[in-house]
Amino acid sequence: MHLLQVSHLQKKYGSHEVVQNINFHINRGECVALLGPNGAGKTTIIKMILNINKLTGGQILLNGKRHDQMCQFIGYLPQHPTFDPWMTGKELLTFMGGLSNIDKEVLEQRINELLDLVGLGGVKNQLIGTYSGGMKQRLGIAQALIHQPKLLIMDEPVSALDPLGRRDILELLKVIKQTSTILFSTHILHDAEELCDKILIINQGQLLVNGSINQIIEETQQPIFIIQAPRIGEWTHELVNEDIVESIELTGNAAKVR
Ligand code: ADP
Repeated sequence: MHLLQVSHLQKKYGSHEVVQNINFHINRGECVALLGPNGAGKTTIIKMILNINKLTGGQILLNGKRHDQMCQFIGYLPQHPTFDPWMTGKELLTFMGGLSNIDKEVLEQRINELLDLVGLGGVKNQLIGTYSGGMKQRLGIAQALIHQPKLLIMDEPVSALDPLGRRDILELLKVIKQTSTILFSTHILHDAEELCDKILIINQGQLLVNGSINQIIEETQQPIFIIQAPRIGEWTHELVNEDIVESIELTGNAAKVR
């Protein structure tokens, strides 16, 4: 049985169908990217899995059970996490862990382990207001993992960071993926490629491609997607050099990949 099974997923806002008949699954231990330009439908899909948005059609199963009964098994890092600047990192995790009814001693140990894992062990007693953007993102990841979820979902976890901060978080996610099942959204192919076993390419609410980057290139003779990315020149250059793709047409901030 797959950990997450998404079948015939559909979302309409009025007559606008923003998610159209999407099917995919995630196995335990996989790291999967939802890749697509802004407005593709990534956040809407994530919010339906989290049971924040109602499904217009289709079904989502987590561990074989209806997802709306299973939300406590999901850890979530939103695109723009906000924190009380007057709390310390440790206080925040203690509070969040308390909400999950974790035994006090177990929680204390887990918080210390998590803070060390995300590299905040040395600043755990500092106010979150003094943390950098990257440190807040690390805290958000620790918060999402506090109740040991079966699935960690992150919405554009590195997009808002500067290049160095981005690299740091990608390295951290490489460690976390060794012990977690991850679904994360991004509009940057390079990040998906670096981290993920499987890539789901979404455009205008449709799932265009589902597979590893090599499968995607092998199986697709047609241009596979048009995507916007701030660092598009960088990754397209790499892909052409590695003979992974035949051609890339750049138009402004978008690329058509063949
Ligand atoms: P992404 O996360 O890929 O950037 P979203 O899922 O946020 O895309 O948005 C997909 C589409 O759904 C967009 O066209 C967006 O404008 C629309 N949309 C998202 N939320 C709402 C809403 N609450 N009401 C109406 N339209 C929405």
